[in-house]
Amino acid sequence: MNANNNEVVALHGEGRLVGCSSDEEPGAKTNYFSQVEIPTKSVSNRTLEFLNRYFPLTTLENWNDWKWQLRHSITSIEDLSRIMSLTEKEVLAIKNLKGRLPLRITPYFASLIYKSKPSHPLRRNVIPVVEELLISSSEQSDPLHESSFSPVKGIVHRYPDRILFTVTQVCSNYCRYCTRSHSVGKLDKLGRSDFEKAFDYIAKHKEIRDVLISGGDPLTLTDEVLDYILFNIRKIKHVEIIRIGTRVPVVLPQRITDGLINTLKKYHPLFISLHFSHPLEITEECASACNKLADGGFPLGSQTVLLKGINDNVQTMKELMHKLLMIRVRPYYLYQCDLIPGSGHFRTTVSKGLEIIKGLRGFTSGYAVPTYVIDAPGGGGKIPLLPDYVVEHNDEHIVLRNYKGEICEYPEK
Ligand code: SF4
Repeated sequence: MNANNNEVVALHGEGRLVGCSSDEEPGAKTNYFSQVEIPTKSVSNRTLEFLNRYFPLTTLENWNDWKWQLRHSITSIEDLSRIMSLTEKEVLAIKNLKGRLPLRITPYFASLIYKSKPSHPLRRNVIPVVEELLISSSEQSDPLHESSFSPVKGIVHRYPDRILFTVTQVCSNYCRYCTRSHSVGKLDKLGRSDFEKAFDYIAKHKEIRDVLISGGDPLTLTDEVLDYILFNIRKIKHVEIIRIGTRVPVVLPQRITDGLINTLKKYHPLFISLHFSHPLEITEECASACNKLADGGFPLGSQTVLLKGINDNVQTMKELMHKLLMIRVRPYYLYQCDLIPGSGHFRTTVSKGLEIIKGLRGFTSGYAVPTYVIDAPGGGGKIPLLPDYVVEHNDEHIVLRNYKGEICEYPEK
């Protein structure tokens, strides 16, 4: 794991007063407590320093409350400038976000970047730069044409036996390269009748055996709403597996509570598709959230978008994949960055992606090698890409090159 264990301050056995919640809503109960009263949470020195500096009156109990994190998310240039100095490029970009993907950063994620340089990989993930305002002719607001595969609000039915169900447009952080930047962050909520229509669509389409619940980020919804959604999907007999796509363990690990695990556990087999971009995201808090999910019996997979200057080299990618396995997350997809508006500064060449896969395959465990895909523009679906290992293939034999460059032959007959 990335976080230095020595950094982590165990809260057991100490009795000093930590603070009060007087920065909460007016009228909120002031809540003095001692560290011994917090039973299981731990917090890093990094967090303590950030908390003391920018939320001096906030309790650790509040900090570890995901709803507090959401309520105190950074959404304006004023809030962001209060905790870190911004470059001219960042200021200009943030001032021109109207109608675009908004700015939103949880205090937890801010604590990972507030002292960073502009080139820091986690900072680039969430703070826009002026290049985001430049749109090229190959970019489109809905590059995967999801809206044209949507039979009812919230559902995208592109593949024969599975659907995407976007249940919210809200995320706790907004990633600057988000494929759904045309829709996430907008105030377009699904109402109860929309949910009923979506459940009805799934029930009527007996070919659907796999439902991917995504958004936005579904884990920004309350346990009660998630329970309502999962209950209604699980009662449809032909649905075999349910998946939830989320970045919450990376950006809001406080959300992975016992209550959430108990809610989700009722609906197995339930897979969780996580989204990681860089090894520095795997902090002690994130690792603990993923381990909790793994202990709940949810198979965990990770999707990563290939991003220029963030993870576009073999060493970073290998470190990320290894750290994911250490927290029981299986690398699943490596995506070529979609052609969304203003993403040119994030996109690498396809050759770069192939070079990374070539640098992983054979040089590390097969479990650490994700499938590199392009999600075909226009809605053609995911297309896997492999480095060229085939030298010659005819009716007699196939001639192959292995990871070391050695040539091998296998007979066809
Ligand atoms: S968490 Fe996912 S849906 Fe939300 S902004 Fe990031 S990539 Fe987009």
